[in-house]
Amino acid sequence: MSSTPTNEHPIIVGIDLGTTNSLVAWCDESGPCILEDENGGNLPSVVRYDEQGNVAAIGKPARDHAVEFPTTTLFSVKRLMGRGIADVQNELNYLPYAVVAGEHNTARVQVTEDKVVSPQEVSAIILRELKAKAEKALGKTVEKAVVTVPAYFDDAQRQATRDAGRIAGLDVVRIVNEPTAAALAYGLGVGEVDTPSETPNKTGSDPVSLNVNAKPLAQPNESGTVSLNTKFNTEACTTGSGADPNLTGELDDDLDHANSTVAVFDLGGGTFDVSILNLQQTEQGIVDQVVATSGDTHLGGDDVDRMIVELIQKEITVQLGQEIDFPPSTRQAFRSFAEATKIRLSNSEYAQLEIDLGEGRSYQRSITRDELEEMMTPWVDRAIACCKEALKKADLPPEDIDRVIMVGGSTRIPLVRKKVGELFGTVPYTALNPDEVVALGAAVQGSILAGINRDMLLLDVIPLSLGIETLGGAVAKLVMSNTTIPAKATEMFTTHAEGQTNVKIHILQGERELVKDCRSLGEFDLTGIPPMPAGLPKIEVTFLVDANGVLNVSAVEKRSEKAARVQIIPNHGLTREEVDRMETESMTHAREDMTAHQLIDLRNQARLDMRAIERQINKVGDELDDAYRVEIAQKVAIVQKFVDTENPDANEFHVALDAMDKATIRLAELAIKQTLAEEQ
Ligand code: ADP
Ligand code: MG
Repeated sequence: MSSTPTNEHPIIVGIDLGTTNSLVAWCDESGPCILEDENGGNLPSVVRYDEQGNVAAIGKPARDHAVEFPTTTLFSVKRLMGRGIADVQNELNYLPYAVVAGEHNTARVQVTEDKVVSPQEVSAIILRELKAKAEKALGKTVEKAVVTVPAYFDDAQRQATRDAGRIAGLDVVRIVNEPTAAALAYGLGVGEVDTPSETPNKTGSDPVSLNVNAKPLAQPNESGTVSLNTKFNTEACTTGSGADPNLTGELDDDLDHANSTVAVFDLGGGTFDVSILNLQQTEQGIVDQVVATSGDTHLGGDDVDRMIVELIQKEITVQLGQEIDFPPSTRQAFRSFAEATKIRLSNSEYAQLEIDLGEGRSYQRSITRDELEEMMTPWVDRAIACCKEALKKADLPPEDIDRVIMVGGSTRIPLVRKKVGELFGTVPYTALNPDEVVALGAAVQGSILAGINRDMLLLDVIPLSLGIETLGGAVAKLVMSNTTIPAKATEMFTTHAEGQTNVKIHILQGERELVKDCRSLGEFDLTGIPPMPAGLPKIEVTFLVDANGVLNVSAVEKRSEKAARVQIIPNHGLTREEVDRMETESMTHAREDMTAHQLIDLRNQARLDMRAIERQINKVGDELDDAYRVEIAQKVAIVQKFVDTENPDANEFHVALDAMDKATIRLAELAIKQTLAEEQ
């Protein structure tokens, strides 16, 4: 928690009451965050009753034993909320518990012979649990909440959601559409009515194309800690080379906060929705107009798990040469295994499968991301077809969509991101955790209703400089503080080790010169660079801050076209006080910072030069007279001493380096002559 609520504002939390999982969030001046207790933030939307019809388990413990108690473990009740028994006939095949007709033919669940519960009552149990979670985290009583529902929910379904809140002792102050909440979490629609449209302000000067000028990047894992701070709800999402639509184009971004058209793509475990919204800021607050929705209530990540299970079962059958009737426990194990494999392939190119078949036999196989993508293509295409349908309903071409927001765990799949990006011609928003974005947005709505000042979100300038870590722990700033957004900056970097195939891009925020004094925003690795001599790779790093303050960082190695990227919201979790403090600190430490940065640069340069001298001596050492050789050795030894000293005088270091460089000019010339002679 970044802060605790003060008494001046009423507490209004935001709740994502999901089909499978539910979350509660809260938002103060520094931005929204998920509320957690000792079980974390996520609460599976599952309730189990015992034989007497009493609640026996809620959340994870209920879900973990669902297979053992199929008829009394209630999940997916959201599918029944506010619906008549006739409306839910096609759901019944998917639900192992008994759905019966209640009063006015509403859908109810028969949990024991004489206990029938309404979906509202079950949802209320979940809500009460979330309320308790929030109270524990905030240390205050929570009575008011904003609760989200799918955009396609009708009045009866919305009313049922309100009723669930009432039963749980929560005043549902507003029902918000899930896609609208996702947009709010990104600050869309939370603008001034008269946002002036800004012209892109280029910073970072001209891109350096000569790699001799390029600063070497830090090596992966060199400086240790991965500092992705979960408090900021940012998530590193990198994709391999070529997977991303072009970044440029995002800057013809005259997006105005007050009026924008947004597509929200929500692909979860079992359901898929796409919504096209028009968000407008009016005197009365934000007005969302749902322009069109489409989707498939039985399309989700579970389908992919099933495809992998089928593949495994088929191959095992072939391997053993006989049909096998796998018991339920084995099938359940296959499922979990398949899901783990799928998730692994979202982050790496390759996964190894190994299943013990007993009697000394085992099933083994490796699976690549390419293979899985081939299997998944028709599945992703179904979702894409729904998007096209929604665009058609809205009568909008894809280019008219200002932003695409990704929601739901399955949007972590690179192929899904790629295809969505291709359809809409824009990089989708993935900076916020796709499982949390709806709850975070509900909290933002809650804070607006509570009158909490969120001016950090509305900044039209970058409050603190943004940059990346370079060799030796220094920071290369790409975008300076007080640059107006949108902003773009590009700079060229290189490697410092021979044959280096990976580089780490560590993103930092702050005014100080050293990594240790800045705020870490996240990092990613650019991998698969072909081995080249140090200094030869040309790594172009681009920072692009769009009109909503979302930062896209991409890195491309120009010779091999290998690329990787990450999306971050730099201002999340940042308060005005923190910005002020960091600014003041940078002024008080200006001189020592400058010296420290200078020393890092001197050390890097000295090491590079000494390596070059060593190579030259190996090449032409025989041709040198003894006196010259001694002279070189002396100059090198002096520089080496400066490199090894903890806090050398920067001026003296500079003089020594200069002397070494001057003394070795003749050596360098000899080496070049030799090289030219060899080439002839
Ligand atoms: P729901 O909206 O149905 O509650 P979620 O949004 O929680 O679902 O998404 C759950 C789905 O996301 C599951 O199918 C899960 O396997 C999938 N998922 C989660 N993380 C990843 C990942 N890194 N790669 C692929 N799929 C993932
Ligand atoms: Mg969901």
